[in-house]
Amino acid sequence: MEKSKHQHINNQFASDNYAGICPEAWQAMQAANSGFVSSYGDDLWTERACELLRQVFETDCQVFFVFNGTAANSLALASLCRSYHSVICHELAHVETDECGAPEFFSNGTKLLHVDGPGGKFDLAEVERAITRRSDIHYPRPKVLSLTQVTEVGTVYTPDEIRAASQLARQYGMKVHIDGARFANAVVSLDVAPADISWRAGVDVLCLGGAKNGMAVGEAVVFFDRELAHEFDYRCKQAGQLASKMRFISAPWIGMLESGAWLKNARQANACAALLEEQLSGIEGIHIMYPRQANSVFVAMPESVTVALRAAGWHFYSFIGSGGARFMCSWQTTEQDVLQLAEALRLAVSSADRRK
Ligand SMILES: *Cc1c(COP(=O)(O)O)cnc(C)c1O
Repeated sequence: MEKSKHQHINNQFASDNYAGICPEAWQAMQAANSGFVSSYGDDLWTERACELLRQVFETDCQVFFVFNGTAANSLALASLCRSYHSVICHELAHVETDECGAPEFFSNGTKLLHVDGPGGKFDLAEVERAITRRSDIHYPRPKVLSLTQVTEVGTVYTPDEIRAASQLARQYGMKVHIDGARFANAVVSLDVAPADISWRAGVDVLCLGGAKNGMAVGEAVVFFDRELAHEFDYRCKQAGQLASKMRFISAPWIGMLESGAWLKNARQANACAALLEEQLSGIEGIHIMYPRQANSVFVAMPESVTVALRAAGWHFYSFIGSGGARFMCSWQTTEQDVLQLAEALRLAVSSADRRK
């Protein structure tokens, strides 16, 4: 096994899921750990967590908790589609590139149709082309428009953009799904009410991320249209996503929402990425690829710099999005971590220069 698998990794900007559990989530989980409580979500913790989500979203939504984002997205999409339908998403969408075919699997064959668009956001003209390209019986019928908020390249759809996407979808009788693994980062970035970038903008189902926001495990599937949630509990159970000790998944949501930690954590992560962007923008040979709008910075840099940075022990991804290096900040990232990374990058650039 590699050394890194045994040790704490300090020099890491690989993912926000490298971070631990934040104190608010941890304490709430501990608070739930007393005595016997009924199982499978039939408990006061789960009831309270659902109620808090209804308050946060200012509407009577229906909420389900599952273990991870892949399950949340796949089961949500499966509940919106029949097997002969299709889902339109961006070509970089997590549901398309990073879920190992789970959306197709859980929907028994619903096809994902991907479209292009700059900055990780789909172009609505492209979406409309994909919808209207064919109307014959041989083409999988478009049924859902799925968007990722924050996008896979760290950009954020504005309320207007979401509204326009929803309007287009409605026009063709389609539903709207959001993969919100980093939804909290978008709320903070846009400084809007969560409702403004979900149901008030026409969204039917939101998969709200917990793990990357500071929880151990668990994502919330939020149905704004309750009819679409019909028998979703059976779908979760069949897919192995119904936790018997549900309180330990739902209680952390109470801790996160009541304390405001879900937004505080996102604010910290976004602020670190903003600082990183500022630090990197002055370094020659380093090019920031997308507008930094949430908690990640994507960078194009010479291969020699990438190699030098990795050799110095830094962890980051280079395969996400379109090929640059991705530096992802989390609730646990500190200003000092960012300054150290910036310093390491400056060193890597100058040592790569010297070798020329
Ligand atoms: C991390 C992530 C998910 C969820 O991934 P899981 O590993 O299944 O929890 C979903 N969508 C996006 C955009 C993500 O970054």
